[in-house]
Order: sequence, then C-alpha cells, then structure tokens
Amino acid sequence: MVSAEKCLEVAIPVCYFCGRDKNQLIINKMLTPSHAKKVKEAHGKVVDYEPCDECKKLMEQGVMLISCKDNNQDYRTGKMCVVKDEAVKDIFPPEYAERALKMRAMFICDTAWTNMGLPE
Ligand SMILES: [Zn+2]
Repeated sequence: MVSAEKCLEVAIPVCYFCGRDKNQLIINKMLTPSHAKKVKEAHGKVVDYEPCDECKKLMEQGVMLISCKDNNQDYRTGKMCVVKDEAVKDIFPPEYAERALKMRAMFICDTAWTNMGLPE
C-alpha cells in the first residue's frame, strides 16, 4: 500500500532568466507516486522559458542583459542590467540585436561583460 503523502508533491520552479524562485506552484493533479515524483524533481529547477513576474516587468522596460560564466551559459554570475531597445540596436550587431529584442534577454559571458564596461 502506498501512503497518501507520497502521492502529492508541490514544487516551486525557478526563472530561466534570473534564477530566482517563480511565483508559481506545481502540484500534481494525478495523485500517483510517479506523478508526484515528476513534480518533486521540478522543485528548484527551470521548467520553462516563461519569465518570472519581476523579469517580465524588466523586459517591458528593455532587454535584460544577464551575465554568465564564460564557458557555461547555464551558470549565472548574478550580474544583470536592463538596456533600452534603442540602445540595444546601437550596441550590438543587427543579427544579435534583432534576436535580443525578440527574446527580451541576452546572455553575455563574464569577460565580455567586463570588457563592455557593464555594471559589476
Ligand atoms: Zn526572473
């Protein structure tokens, strides 16, 4: 017999862009151990590319520039800033700017971040 508490899990996913907890809960609808396990595994992880509420607000103001480790885009250094759309067009080559404006975010490796003089 399976105990009831192993059939229900609640998870808080993290935001792909800032890495902070999202204002969102994931709860399994199907109360089975396998569904509960899937939910448990999502806790503290990125489950989609939907920005959190705070990132959504920042993306309305401009493009989020997010610093990541030179050789690992999944590792955020914690440095972040928002650049107005017009400035993105001035700073980056057209193909990068176009992509950044569409995605509303751009990952920049740490060395480039420093070389560009972005805020530390
Ligand atoms: Zn976020």
